[in-house]
Amino acid sequence: MHSNSSIHALAHSVQRPFSQEKEVMSKSTSRSRVLVTGAGGFIGHHLVTYLKERGYWVRGADLKHPEFAGSDADEFLELDLRRWPECLEATSDCDEVYALAADMGGMGFISSHHAEILHNNLLISTHTLDAARANGVKRYLYTSSACIYPEYRQTTTDVTPLREEDAYPAEPQDAYGWEKLVTERLCMHYREQYGIETRTVRFHNIFGPLGTWEGGREKAPAAMCRKVAVAKLTGDPVVEIWGDGEQTRSFCYIDDCVEGIYRLMRSDHAEPLNLGQDRLISINELADMVAAVAGASIVKRHVSGPQGVRGRNSDNTRLRAVLGWEPRISLEEGMARTYEWIEGRIRARSAQPADFRRESLQVAGA
Ligand code: NAD
Repeated sequence: MHSNSSIHALAHSVQRPFSQEKEVMSKSTSRSRVLVTGAGGFIGHHLVTYLKERGYWVRGADLKHPEFAGSDADEFLELDLRRWPECLEATSDCDEVYALAADMGGMGFISSHHAEILHNNLLISTHTLDAARANGVKRYLYTSSACIYPEYRQTTTDVTPLREEDAYPAEPQDAYGWEKLVTERLCMHYREQYGIETRTVRFHNIFGPLGTWEGGREKAPAAMCRKVAVAKLTGDPVVEIWGDGEQTRSFCYIDDCVEGIYRLMRSDHAEPLNLGQDRLISINELADMVAAVAGASIVKRHVSGPQGVRGRNSDNTRLRAVLGWEPRISLEEGMARTYEWIEGRIRARSAQPADFRRESLQVAGA
């Protein structure tokens, strides 16, 4: 994977932060028109706000509006991006596209809905990229995932951090990971063949307020905050954890995520790039951290459930080299902000402490 040209590109991009700042300023006065797909979802919603703060004209597109707060987008289109004509409408008159729409969820969801995930996400990704090309979009950022990394590299809890070139020989996790890997390649070929400047980011477990926290699609950090909040508010200290809780991950706070997305879009790095924290933590440790943040005593009960790979961490060597930057918000700080928001949601739902019954608060999910 390391050609001479890509090494030169890396060396060149290390010196970029100042010129990036200049580009950021010129972008904010030029009122470039950008599309954010998945703008009704967690990361897309935050990204719209971030881009608006930088002076862009932003169109959001999604099946639905954001659930927890109004969108800052200049225009918000409710569209089904599996359909080609709706992708043409979404990408019309735009200079740049941030493609975040996907049928996705936490481990419980992506390990049990393979057919619709592969079907829906292949259609969304292929039609959105091709419509962007047809409409003359200049830059296109695709949001891939750490789930593209081969399962055979993630079999131990003290896993070696994953470098971008570790993606091959391919053995992604689940249908969700296969679609991401195929679309990474589609972006590469569209850049080579049609000249659309594609960027590809591989997220490692993004979390924060205004994300799904119940219902079965939530991911581990939000699910943990909900479970600990329920334990605290009901006085029943039991918190269920899927598996033995020794499985490890890294987690990246949403504010770092949107900044990293933006920096990658502005860079000239066309190959896939990790975006995540590189601090490894077990799910048991995460539970203890959330309990400390909440000021709650918990009793962990390990139950059977999907756990995904045994361990996964991000190698940020290339991220630092390419962007001259890496995520900086600590896990403790990010979890505190996320916990506060989720406990607030639960409190808002139940007016009286007597309403904090476990059965009314404990819902499906990780
Ligand atoms: P999310 O589920 O909150 O947002 C995805 C949005 O896509 C949702 O609002 C959904 O309604 C929309 N969508 C689904 N099908 C659609 C369709 N047919 N037409 C239009 N919109 C549709 O997820 P997120 O966490 O914000 O993730 C954003 C992107 O980042 C996704 O591509 C996801 O695969 C990727 N990603 C996220 C993480 C993470 O930790 N959150 C990790 C790896 C990759």
